[in-house]
Amino acid sequence: MTAEEPGMAQQVMAADDLFPATRKTPLPGGYMGRILRVNLSTENFEVLPLPEEPLLKKLWGGQALALYILLRELAADAQPLGPDAKVVMMTGPLTATGLTPGGTKMCAVFLSPITGYTLGRAATSGFWPMALRAAGYDGLILEGVARRPSYLYIDEERVELRDASPVWGLGTRDTENRLRELVGHRDARVACIGPAGEHVVPAAMLVNDYNHNAAHGLGALFGSKKLKAIVARGTRRPPLHDKKALIDAGRRWRKVLEPTVYTVQQRLKSPGYGGLWGAITRNNWRSTVITDEARGFDQNRVTLRPCFQCQRLCPWDVEIGEGPHKGKGGHFNAGSEWMDTFYNLGLKGNDVLQLTERINDLGIECGHFANAAGLAFEAWEKGLLQADRTQGLVLQWGNHASVERLLEQCARREGWLGNLLAEGVEPLAKALGGDAPQWAVHTKGGSPAQHDWRPRISDMLDNLTGSGGMKSQGGGSYAVSPRDLANTEQWGPLDPALPEGWARSQMLAEQLKQACGLMGCCWFALIDINAEDALNSMMDSLNATTGWNMTLEDARAAGHRSMILQSIFGAQHGWRAEHDWKHVGPRFLEPVPDGKYQGFTIARWLPDIVQEYYRLSGRHELSGRPLPGTLERLGLEEFAAWAEREARP
Ligand code: SF4
Repeated sequence: MTAEEPGMAQQVMAADDLFPATRKTPLPGGYMGRILRVNLSTENFEVLPLPEEPLLKKLWGGQALALYILLRELAADAQPLGPDAKVVMMTGPLTATGLTPGGTKMCAVFLSPITGYTLGRAATSGFWPMALRAAGYDGLILEGVARRPSYLYIDEERVELRDASPVWGLGTRDTENRLRELVGHRDARVACIGPAGEHVVPAAMLVNDYNHNAAHGLGALFGSKKLKAIVARGTRRPPLHDKKALIDAGRRWRKVLEPTVYTVQQRLKSPGYGGLWGAITRNNWRSTVITDEARGFDQNRVTLRPCFQCQRLCPWDVEIGEGPHKGKGGHFNAGSEWMDTFYNLGLKGNDVLQLTERINDLGIECGHFANAAGLAFEAWEKGLLQADRTQGLVLQWGNHASVERLLEQCARREGWLGNLLAEGVEPLAKALGGDAPQWAVHTKGGSPAQHDWRPRISDMLDNLTGSGGMKSQGGGSYAVSPRDLANTEQWGPLDPALPEGWARSQMLAEQLKQACGLMGCCWFALIDINAEDALNSMMDSLNATTGWNMTLEDARAAGHRSMILQSIFGAQHGWRAEHDWKHVGPRFLEPVPDGKYQGFTIARWLPDIVQEYYRLSGRHELSGRPLPGTLERLGLEEFAAWAEREARP
């Protein structure tokens, strides 16, 4: 961006103020001190200094710092996929220290292309965030549109926008391999889009290091900007305030995490995360019962994959050991939404793993596809959709060949159905007509992470109040208050079948898991939050790295700021809290159809439980905007114009 561009002068002044030419305050430990602004239209690169320490102490990094920058920079009338759209990507002070678990995180924020009116937030782990810091940067601001398909190359000495024609059209796996060859560095790390991103599918992902995805439409923004990939490498590491203290705190944190480290055996028999509570999504959310979904997994060869210096080993690779896909490989991330994605279409066993590899290679967010395709299959079953609109495909539950072909159609927007699958479940339901909108699952037009959350009040609350499809940072809340917070919080165990206490639990979980993300860590490394020393070791890691003296109350405040900034951003684009319970696909709120939770639904406590959550977190229960006192308490008075004056409707 240059000051000469019409209408931009005011924003440039704000940005200058935010990125001080001469620092008045010291740069804390843990920060590289630089943000790279990339204007893809002009091919202009600008190295910006990190904001002053008082702001860093409020926001830390990750989503909050990235969003604060986006709030200052994004034009009010910018469209999610228009030329004025911006992406801000930010790590945190613990990213890439290599001395704590989970220090692997990057969070990108943007206006969601899926909902069009909420925050898009895409976070990823693996190695790419570490490589960005190794190249010398805390974060990136991407703006403009490249003149031709391009990729960004960043190392310690240079930044270049290079011709992406050798990889345009390739899947994410081949793109990653080819770009590493092209840049001539085996240690280069690649974050890239596949065909779905190139075709600007709203739920396209950015895929990095084979096993990791930044979702919620980030890949669509890359495609709209003709940016195929960012390749990063370098040898730098964040400066540490007290390395010895960090080693000690990181060792304690690792000890907390030890009982949760994954094993190969788990991957050989588990039907996925839903197995923990005994419900999966089947046949477009019309059955939850787990049968033989994991059949054949025990014949596979599984390799656990660490993220950068994290011992939890969530990601994994497979070589399928039986059946028609024998010998094929796959790379999977920490979650297992992709399993429920294909269970939802009637598939089981190694068909699921093979199709997951395809969807990741094409770069489509799995929940987005799961719910749109699930709706199409149900419409076929009920006679609302015929072969004239499926390009001849037969959409019978469990038809592997049809699902595989539909993935390709969706990624490339082929045909009537492929294009609507790309657009998402709401537009598809509308186009199908009849009762189809009643069969849709979505929140604010986006897809929840694909698990059957309906039996769980905590996760339903999390998904409903999330930013449109996406959950808030950190899924699920706690049945018991964390042990390290015993001096301020003592409650639980909460009854999973009753609403009392869950709104408060959700607020606390969000604050703490947001805080974990803001420091540049993965909240999967904070999975046993009730364990003694889980939170204290995390906070000691932050303080040893930065030289600060933050308490757990400070962590809750930092997380809370991030939640409030998210509400302000949504309010600026038309979101209101009442969308959380009004703009929801009806099936997501239907009683559980069968199995051990049959008949259960959070709907009987809506909207009260969501309104309680907003009240407790200092926001208006209908508009979702923060109250003036909340802004004052959190030091965010500059956003007073977006406050709601009245606490009650
Ligand atoms: S906790 Fe799991 S997903 Fe998170 S950084 Fe560690 S290995 Fe990766």
